[in-house]
Amino acid sequence: MKFHHDIVIVGAGLAGLRAAVECVEKADIAIVSKVLPTRSHSGAAQGGITASIGNEEEDHWEWHMFDTVKGSDYLADQDAVEIMVRDAPRVIYELEHMGVPFSRNTVGRIAQRNFGGHTRDYGKKPVKRACHVSDRTGRVVLDTLYDQCLRHKVKFYPEHYVLSLVLEDGRCDGMIAYDLSSGELNLIEAKAVLLATGGCGRIFKTTSNGFASTGDGLNLAHRAGIPLMDMEFVQFHPTGLYPLGILVSEAARGEGAILRNNQGERFMERYAPTVKDLAARDVVSRAILTEVREGRGFEGGFVHLDLTHLGEEKILEKLWEITSFVRIYLGIDPVHEPIPVYPTCHYIMGGIPTDAEGRVLKDESRTVTKGLYAAGECACVSVHGANRLGCNSLLDTLVFGRRAGLAMKEDIAKIEYHPVSDEPLEKAKELIGGLLDNKGPEKIAIIRRNMQSLMMDHCSVFRDEDNLGIGLEEIRSLKKRLRNVEIVNKGRYFNYELMEAIELGHQLDLAEVILLSAFRRKESRGAHFREDFPARDDTNFLKHTLVFPGGEVRYKSVTVTRYHPEARVY
Ligand SMILES: Cc1cc2nc3c(=O)[nH]c(=O)nc-3n(C[C@H](O)[C@H](O)[C@H](O)COP(=O)(O)OP(=O)(O)OC[C@H]3O[C@@H](n4cnc5c(N)ncnc54)[C@H](O)[C@@H]3O)c2cc1C
Repeated sequence: MKFHHDIVIVGAGLAGLRAAVECVEKADIAIVSKVLPTRSHSGAAQGGITASIGNEEEDHWEWHMFDTVKGSDYLADQDAVEIMVRDAPRVIYELEHMGVPFSRNTVGRIAQRNFGGHTRDYGKKPVKRACHVSDRTGRVVLDTLYDQCLRHKVKFYPEHYVLSLVLEDGRCDGMIAYDLSSGELNLIEAKAVLLATGGCGRIFKTTSNGFASTGDGLNLAHRAGIPLMDMEFVQFHPTGLYPLGILVSEAARGEGAILRNNQGERFMERYAPTVKDLAARDVVSRAILTEVREGRGFEGGFVHLDLTHLGEEKILEKLWEITSFVRIYLGIDPVHEPIPVYPTCHYIMGGIPTDAEGRVLKDESRTVTKGLYAAGECACVSVHGANRLGCNSLLDTLVFGRRAGLAMKEDIAKIEYHPVSDEPLEKAKELIGGLLDNKGPEKIAIIRRNMQSLMMDHCSVFRDEDNLGIGLEEIRSLKKRLRNVEIVNKGRYFNYELMEAIELGHQLDLAEVILLSAFRRKESRGAHFREDFPARDDTNFLKHTLVFPGGEVRYKSVTVTRYHPEARVY
């Protein structure tokens, strides 16, 4: 079937929904999502959204900007960071007006709490900057934005899997989407397409990310000729629940929880004397694994996150959800016992390069791809550089989702409608048919497991040249093995095995890009720590990586406006 809209948004997380709300009154718009919209990963966000509204103590956007730039290990583009942090207070009040029931402090104002790396007065001490709805912030904001979309009658294509983008003459004219419920292929034409497809954490074995975070949008753009930027920067969140990897939000430490090693020592005092447990995530993750390596962890490779001194009342009010799933999954009660935690893959700082209006850039000279936009975790504008600070991601999705919406609304008046031939649809039919007919000894689940373990062993918190080199070779051989996969389920309806085969193809391509970017960056910066090059090297590597389709690696300069690189200590 063929459909047509002015604007089509791929992804119903915060970035996609916020963009839709922005342009729905001016355009015919639709949202395509492979999962039911409210099951997007944004709904799992617990901790909050940062803004320097200063409800608890003095705060300024300049402090927020400084922290974000320092947190990024000076790789973020500072013009983009400034746009984000200046817009943050507006974002919070706007959400409140849309109906988000933020938690309140004792005088009835929106409550704020501490989060790692957020400080007052340029690093002097932690500041309360994260606005939250208990520990269910993402869930509530996602539902609220979804309500807004329903109110405005946005057209949804739920459980539709986007297989490819249609690009012609450097312009995006639409996409091919596979209807999971019927097995039908659809061509959806559009004047403007926004990729808001989220992250790719499922490439790693230990991850906080949901099953849908397979990085499809990143690779759809890459396959269509777009380079991927800064993909070596993969964030490992310090406190994944051991041994499952699901997230224990930084909100726990924000509310006062303490990390302890097997001697009961508050070891973060040694690694970050000023802000201790509230240092940036890359610093805390390395500290935990260093404790484990040096024999001060617990057997199996974890440390303890201790909430017991906070008291039952505070724990249940502020950290209810975390507490309940620790009880359910581990049978441990955080009110009385410490929680076992270890680093878990959480977020990709890199992504599809865009300008501050979400327009996709196809090279280092900032050439725009007409009709193609990206926002949210799949995009790289870049506000997080080499390491994202907690609660800055929801902010990023809302600020740049809206800006992409504004840009699309304006641009479509100037874009002509280009009808698409049947060719892309025919190609997609061949692809699906080919996959279903494929014969061979390989299984998706086994290749995926191999990839996830390999990325964990070769490309996680600590990296070096030998390991990355071997990882690259092994990923390439897994890619070859994927050609011999046989899909057992030949059915039309909800054929998830088929979808997973396609997702795995994306994941392997992205794993290769991550390894390649990491292999080439011979320094340590933010989340990318090279044991063979443990220092940051601003002379040679204060630049963004761009990996082009085919594997060519080029670099792009970083925009520095206010804060010049200096030593990063917490
Ligand atoms: C457990 C957890 C807790 C977090 N907590 C916080 C927090 O407290 N604060 C914070 O700032 N950040 C937090 N983050 C990070 C933040 O939640 C994410 O970065 C952000 O929500 C991403 O939003 P998004 O709109 O880019 O994408 P997502 O919310 O991930 O949505 C992606 C969408 O793309 C669609 N999609 C993907 N591929 C396809 C395809 N091929 N075809 C069709 N549709 C497709 C999916 O269906 C989905 O609708 C957390 C992340 C996790 C995993």
